[in-house]
Amino acid sequence: MATNRTFTMIKPDAVEKGHIGGILNMITEGGFRIVAMKLTQLTVADAQKFYAVHSERPFFGELVEFMTRGPIVAAILEKENAVEDFRTLIGATNPTEAAEGTIRKKYASSIGENAVHGSDSDENAAIEGAFHFARREQF
Ligand code: ADP
Ligand code: MG
Repeated sequence: MATNRTFTMIKPDAVEKGHIGGILNMITEGGFRIVAMKLTQLTVADAQKFYAVHSERPFFGELVEFMTRGPIVAAILEKENAVEDFRTLIGATNPTEAAEGTIRKKYASSIGENAVHGSDSDENAAIEGAFHFARREQF
């Protein structure tokens, strides 16, 4: 399997609760290499663009409000089979359905405030990574 990249955010709920270190530890223990990383905050326009695929969903307003309410950690991660393996590591969207040992099982509070984002395809990983990081910030 080829080495490739995914994009993640540690969401505002997890940053607020002091879980940056715990989540980064699970990510590195999971075999992912950090290619790029920063503490940043999404604007409303950023969040609307990032989650545009969900714009017709009833939770869209709540999602944008949540994702913009405080800082996030944005990062690009590298590993063999990165996108799929990272989705496995974060667990199901709803933490009540997330498997034992996953980041969301440990740190998510609800289906909305679920601690982390992980890209769902190689194409989206590239788009999402480029949204946050210039080439010179990727190592
Ligand atoms: P995932 O992040 O697992 O890929 P989705 O792409 O389905 O999940 O949804 C994007 C994000 O929208 C979720 O991570 C979560 O923060 C939020 N979300 C999804 N479903 C709901 C819901 N039913 N109610 C509130 N927020 C939701
Ligand atoms: Mg998704």
